[in-house]
Amino acid sequence: MSDCLFCKIIAGEIPSSKVYEDDLCYAFNDIAPQAPTHFLVIPKAHIGSVSEVNADNSAVVAHIFEVIAKLAKEQGMDSYRVVSNIGEQAGQSVFHLHFHVLSGRDMTWPPG
Ligand code: AMP
Repeated sequence: MSDCLFCKIIAGEIPSSKVYEDDLCYAFNDIAPQAPTHFLVIPKAHIGSVSEVNADNSAVVAHIFEVIAKLAKEQGMDSYRVVSNIGEQAGQSVFHLHFHVLSGRDMTWPPG
């Protein structure tokens, strides 16, 4: 989508701190980290949020979770949180599917 911030990051039109990239997904450090490690993993194809995942596009979500597990192992993360906010009330501010990966500090549950 031409007006999507994360599509522009994937296209290289907006700079980002790359963590990982393959044909299907892109991972980069969050610009406002909420933990010592905080990166985002996004599909290269535009999907608005989890609420737009369906039988036609869900394979990329499985792939993203494989990538998250691989990156966590590589980075020695044995405890971490994966979050996806859906909708404004839940805290979604960028409407391109993304999974936050957070690690390196104590975390509370339930979240605020
Ligand atoms: P959410 O609020 O769940 O939609 O998450 C969006 C995330 O994108 C937030 O944690 C922001 O800090 C992050 N973010 C926004 N703009 C950028 C950017 N240019 N580069 C990296 N992360 C960003």
